[in-house]
Amino acid sequence: MITRRHAIKTLGTASLVFAAAKLPPSSAQAPAPAPPSGPFKLEPLPYSADALEPFIDARTMEIHHDRHHATYVANLNKAVIDQPKLASQSVEAILRDLADVPPSVKTAVQNHGGGHYNHTLFWELLKKDAGEPKGDLAMAINGKFGSYKGFQEQFTKASLGVFGSGWAWLCLDKEKQLLIETTPNQDSPVSKGRNVLLGIDVWEHAYYLKYQNKRADYVAAFYNVINWDFVAARMDQFVKKP
Ligand code: MN
Repeated sequence: MITRRHAIKTLGTASLVFAAAKLPPSSAQAPAPAPPSGPFKLEPLPYSADALEPFIDARTMEIHHDRHHATYVANLNKAVIDQPKLASQSVEAILRDLADVPPSVKTAVQNHGGGHYNHTLFWELLKKDAGEPKGDLAMAINGKFGSYKGFQEQFTKASLGVFGSGWAWLCLDKEKQLLIETTPNQDSPVSKGRNVLLGIDVWEHAYYLKYQNKRADYVAAFYNVINWDFVAARMDQFVKKP
C-alpha cells in the first residue's frame, strides 16, 4: 500500500529526474568555442543578428559570427602562440607579407588569419536598405563596368563561379583601378597587394540554413545588404593614400 508520504517522496524523485533530464540546454549544438585568449579578438557584430532579415537570417548570422568567425580567431591565436613577431602585428599586416610567415605556421595563418580578416570586413560592409553606389564610387563603377547593373552581372558571375568554398571581391589593384576577383578558402586579396572594397562570403555556412543549395538566390539577396557608404569611404581612403 502506498502511503501519502511515500507518494510524495516518489513524486519528488520523479520530478527531480524529469528536471535533470531537461537540463542540458545546449545539447543540440556543439558548445561555442572558448573566448579567444591571445592577441586577436572577435569584435561583436556591429548590429543585431536580425538586422539583415529577411535577406540574411538571424540564425545564420549568429552561427556565422559566434561559431565560425570565433573559431578562426581562436585558431589564429593558437598559431601565433610561439610567434611573438606575428602576435604583435595586425592581421592585415601579416596577410600582406605572408611570405615572411614561418613555414611551420604559414598554412594556419593563411587560413585562420584570412578567415579573421575577411569576416571582420564582411560584417562591417553589411547594412540593409543602403541603396546603390553614389558619387565617386558610382563613377568608378560605371567607368569600369558600364553601369551598376553591369557590375552586378560580373560580380554575380564571379560569385557563382567559385567552386566549393571561397569569396568574390571588389578590390582596387596597385594602379587603384577596380577589379573583381575570387579567392579559394579564406585566402584574402590583401595577400596579393589589393585594397579590398567589398567581398561576399560564398562558403555554404554563409547561406545554407536559409538558401540551402541555392547560392544564386543568396547572391541576389546580397545586393540588398551592401553598405555602399562604407565601401565608398574605403575607396576614398585608399585612393587618397600615397
Ligand atoms: Mn564565413
